Amino acid sequence: MRVVFVGPPGAGKGTQAKVICVRLGVPQISTGDMLRAAKSAGKLPADLVAKMAAGALVPDGLVIGLIDERVRATDCTPGFLLDGFPRTSPQAEALDQMLAKRGLKLDCVLALEVPKELLIERTVLRRTDKRTGQIYHLKYSPPPPGADLEHRADDREEVVRKRLDTYEGMTAELLPYYEGHGILRRIDGVGSVDEVTTRILSALGAK
Ligand code: AMP
Repeated sequence: MRVVFVGPPGAGKGTQAKVICVRLGVPQISTGDMLRAAKSAGKLPADLVAKMAAGALVPDGLVIGLIDERVRATDCTPGFLLDGFPRTSPQAEALDQMLAKRGLKLDCVLALEVPKELLIERTVLRRTDKRTGQIYHLKYSPPPPGADLEHRADDREEVVRKRLDTYEGMTAELLPYYEGHGILRRIDGVGSVDEVTTRILSALGAK
């Protein structure tokens, strides 16, 4: 199954992707994680590090190249779940083309919907365990003692607001694109992790 998660920062894409990937037996592919890994390895040019820190998108060509290479890996044969890609219509078109070349297509695009004020609370209090990649929330899903926590630089409130604006600009073109292809499913992203997982699995017909 080839699935895309679309949603603003804090909608729960990363958290849900981890659970859903286990259920579907497919890898999670996050361009945000790939870019952060490139940054930590000192392989991301300074101007792109600055773009990410400011909450702006990096160029389409870079993320399209990353995805084109990643989806060819053998672990993607049963499918994949894309989290954070595509974010623009050129990225969506490039994805369709790279799949079509191999006789493949997307099965479903899940749009996780959450009101803006809740998104800000979720992201500003979000923490990731550097060792395990597990995502916590200081209020709703507190980390265990001893977790090695990291607060993403772009999860500060002023940057989150900028990322939300960027997202709104992007979805204006992306959601109608997938709606037109008849594969968009809108998911209410408010509720516990389990509640949202149940909604996603039922939208995927996997429950
Ligand atoms: P995320 O972890 O998905 O919120 O991504 C973090 C940051 O990485 C974004 O704010 C962008 O700067 C960059 N990024 C991730 N995915 C993409 C993408 N598909 N297109 C452009 N920039 C991206």
